[in-house]
Amino acid sequence: MVRVRIAPSPTGFLHFGTARTALFNWLFAKATAGRFILRIEDTDKERNRPECETDILEQLKWLGMEWDEFYKQSERGKIYKEYLLRLLSENKAYYCFCAKEELEAQKQSMEAAGLPPKYSGRCRSIAPADAETRFRNGERAVIRFKVREEKISFKDLIRGEIHFDLGLMGDQVIARDLENPLYNFVVVIDDALTQITHVIRAEDHLSNTPKQIVLYEAFGFNIPKFGHLPLILNADRSKMSKRFNDVSIEEYREAGYLKEALLNFMAFLGWHPKENKEVMTIDEIVKEFTLERVQKGGAVFNLDKLDWMNAHYIAKLPNDRFAELSAPHLPQGWRLTDRMIDSIKLRVKRMSEVKELTAFYFNLPDYPAEQLCWKEMSLKAVSGNLAIVATILQEVGEGDFEKGNLESILIGKTGSIPKGEIFWPLRVALSGEEKSPTPFEIMGVLGKNESLHRVRLAIEKCA
Ligand code: GLU
Repeated sequence: MVRVRIAPSPTGFLHFGTARTALFNWLFAKATAGRFILRIEDTDKERNRPECETDILEQLKWLGMEWDEFYKQSERGKIYKEYLLRLLSENKAYYCFCAKEELEAQKQSMEAAGLPPKYSGRCRSIAPADAETRFRNGERAVIRFKVREEKISFKDLIRGEIHFDLGLMGDQVIARDLENPLYNFVVVIDDALTQITHVIRAEDHLSNTPKQIVLYEAFGFNIPKFGHLPLILNADRSKMSKRFNDVSIEEYREAGYLKEALLNFMAFLGWHPKENKEVMTIDEIVKEFTLERVQKGGAVFNLDKLDWMNAHYIAKLPNDRFAELSAPHLPQGWRLTDRMIDSIKLRVKRMSEVKELTAFYFNLPDYPAEQLCWKEMSLKAVSGNLAIVATILQEVGEGDFEKGNLESILIGKTGSIPKGEIFWPLRVALSGEEKSPTPFEIMGVLGKNESLHRVRLAIEKCA
């Protein structure tokens, strides 16, 4: 059975890049009826923040990526220690007493000799019993793993055959001490003990993979398959800047991106279906998802595309859901009616725009008189035309204030006047905006009294 995991560190909120990695793991688990595991990598005691862990769980849930199992590294210290001791006792790892300055000097002398900088292996030769005594006596030491000098290769599920020369690596520090194991070590222990079958993660972890493979081998663990997801790139194909990749899911959510749009967009950052289509529900993606269709090359992040996709999903929302999703972006007490929603829904790119797009329904518009003028019209002509409109509106029954009716009545009765000279001033009188729904839609929302009131205020402004 496929078992995959996402292993975020709670040093920041769930950000876009990690959410995409989570999604590819989740999709693969769903597509193969496997299990999706969440592991919180909180071994860095200084940089962990509990609110970040809460956020990671909350955003994953919001996106609909529920996990089947949950682990937290801070609760597994005893296990790591046991495995560290095992490596030490089997003489596969050793205490290294070299001080920082010595390591720096070693590095410099290797560089000077034109060699790739790596640990010289100096403490390898200390007899284990001596090292043990020195360590027990309180001498500071890190734990290093003995890396053999060999070339290794593995088959990456996405990138194909990958070769590494372990000879360039040197003996790796796997723990600061028995209580503080480091990333590459704990990841191997956890992935092995939780029987992860596929490690799917971002390409920037590629260089960690050989460091992890040698540890699997040292323990005799089964080695999982590895798949490294393409980097997310800016439009100019430079590596994705912090600006987007490090943006938290919470921020996208606050800006009013729907999870449906985010999921669709994220899935397409590195994966495409066979057919040439762009809009797919998450269920459709699950049905078609395979790792074979994940691309090697970088995936370009296009914010306009995300906005377009979001607008697409917003346009398809039923009005009650639209009202529900826009509520957190609106001042208290603003309740959107169906007519209001119908008048703006197709223009909303992010839910956070709804406030601005509907503000004139709730507040009297404030605009300079000149804005009422269509092209070269004079204020006098504007006020004359608005007076004609007011007279016509006066005759329409309250119950007939509906956009279709209003449109045919007003067009029918003002036929001789150029449309722009009637409907531009009317629209501005009602909304105060350069761009807004049609005057008929707005009046359908405002009703007779309020519409007439605004038309009269506009006439007064022209005086
Ligand atoms: N904690 C690592 C990260 O957040 C996990 C990397 C991995 O998946 O092995 O990048």
